[in-house]
Amino acid sequence: MNKINWNFDNTYSTLPESFISKTSPVPVKSPELVLFNYNLAKELGLDFSLTDKKDLSKLFSGNLLPKGSNAIAQAYAGHQFGHFTMLGDGRAILIGEHLSKNNERFDIQFKGSGKTPFSRNGDGRAALGPMLREYIISEAMHALKIPTTRSLSVVTTGEDVIRENILKGAILTRVASSHLRVGTFQFAAFRKKENELKTLIDYTINRHYQNIKKSKNQALDLLKVLIEKQTSLVVNWMRVGFIHGVMNTDNMAISGETIDYGPCAFMDTYDPQTVFSSIDQLGRYAYFNQPSITKWNLARFAECLLPHIESNKDKAIEIATEVINSFDKNYEIKWINMMRDKLGLFGENSKDHVLILDLLTWMHKNKADYTNTFCFLMNENVKNNKIYKNEDFLIWKKRWEDRLKLNNSDPKKTLNLMKSVNPLVIPRNHRVEEALESANSNDLSLVKKLIKVLEKPYEKIGENVDYQSPAPFDAKDYKTFCGT
Ligand code: AMP
Ligand code: MG
Repeated sequence: MNKINWNFDNTYSTLPESFISKTSPVPVKSPELVLFNYNLAKELGLDFSLTDKKDLSKLFSGNLLPKGSNAIAQAYAGHQFGHFTMLGDGRAILIGEHLSKNNERFDIQFKGSGKTPFSRNGDGRAALGPMLREYIISEAMHALKIPTTRSLSVVTTGEDVIRENILKGAILTRVASSHLRVGTFQFAAFRKKENELKTLIDYTINRHYQNIKKSKNQALDLLKVLIEKQTSLVVNWMRVGFIHGVMNTDNMAISGETIDYGPCAFMDTYDPQTVFSSIDQLGRYAYFNQPSITKWNLARFAECLLPHIESNKDKAIEIATEVINSFDKNYEIKWINMMRDKLGLFGENSKDHVLILDLLTWMHKNKADYTNTFCFLMNENVKNNKIYKNEDFLIWKKRWEDRLKLNNSDPKKTLNLMKSVNPLVIPRNHRVEEALESANSNDLSLVKKLIKVLEKPYEKIGENVDYQSPAPFDAKDYKTFCGT
């Protein structure tokens, strides 16, 4: 095989033994590459231009491990739907950390590569549909300028996986700036070995947040940094109508990237209570609950750090509580500024909040499409735009136009601001399903087309128009499933 430029430097394996289980991917029968992200490979400084499909299939199924890799499964814990559990990579294997040319570090992880000591009753495998879904949506999130893990490839295994039906097995290669999670800290805290937790804090700061390396209270600053990162992340989700669906603490990354694309989906009709996940029966992870769940998860993170924030427990709780409670105000400010951007509003006006809420209430009442309402305000051609002739909407629009006058700036600038935050296309549920269905019948053309359309969500491209319409059925009926 020619030179690919892998440059592995596997630091996670130097952590205490309890964090890691050395586990190799279980070889698969007949791997076949179905998707490969050449753009991402290039960003990573990897050159696969001379690697043929057969070798790519072997590499990205784990049948042939690259030189310098060191396969491990990571241990972690987590609150799943509020309940604490010991977990770990049950069907994912980290093959190593690759350093790009400018020394950026990336985890290269296989998802669906066989059993590990953390598999519990699972088979360690993944099905083609959910892996393609993760590829499509994670790459769409990246294009939407939202921090996320990336997808490098999908390979079918030539083996069946048994779920409710018999499905095609597949392996996704996930690229992340790390797989450290709130759950990793919960794992360390639960073991009550102070030195392990300290090692994890040091490792995390060294890997992600070197700017707080010299700080007087590193644990407290780490908490503050994560609050900042996760607040920005959830505001971004709210901006585009993304519903993660399974915001368990093991699915909250310390890097601030969106991780774990199981039952996630995008909201079309605006309804703050939207839930797509079939297992989220109480709506714990509904669209409008996402900020408060983020705060709840951050509080679990804070609990882990307490002994390192301050040796006096009561004092530590007091300090951490104050910091956690800063979330609400911080979120509110970030959220309203994000909504101002969506509406092209410069500066601040005391009536902005009401103006924004009134639009959302109107959308909810009239079952308007969230994405397309902003497209309409940007004068983008939206099909089925009869709804925007509604009298209440026109009254609201007049108020908005009056507010725009206070911008005191070139209308072009207003439009450019709106265009930079309001996507024209999102991964519409029916488009994702349609693509996955045809992939199941061995036709990947729709998956590839969808990926292409989602590459430039903020740009007007003729062929994208068909991808702007919401589902022809009531979005409430759409259900997603955890990708097991
Ligand atoms: P998730 O809901 O994807 O965050 O997964 C929760 C936990 O279940 C993680 O520890 C996964 O590794 C594990 N898991 C999910 N699917 C499987 C599977 N098919 N086999 C083994 N473990 C799994
Ligand atoms: Mg997970």
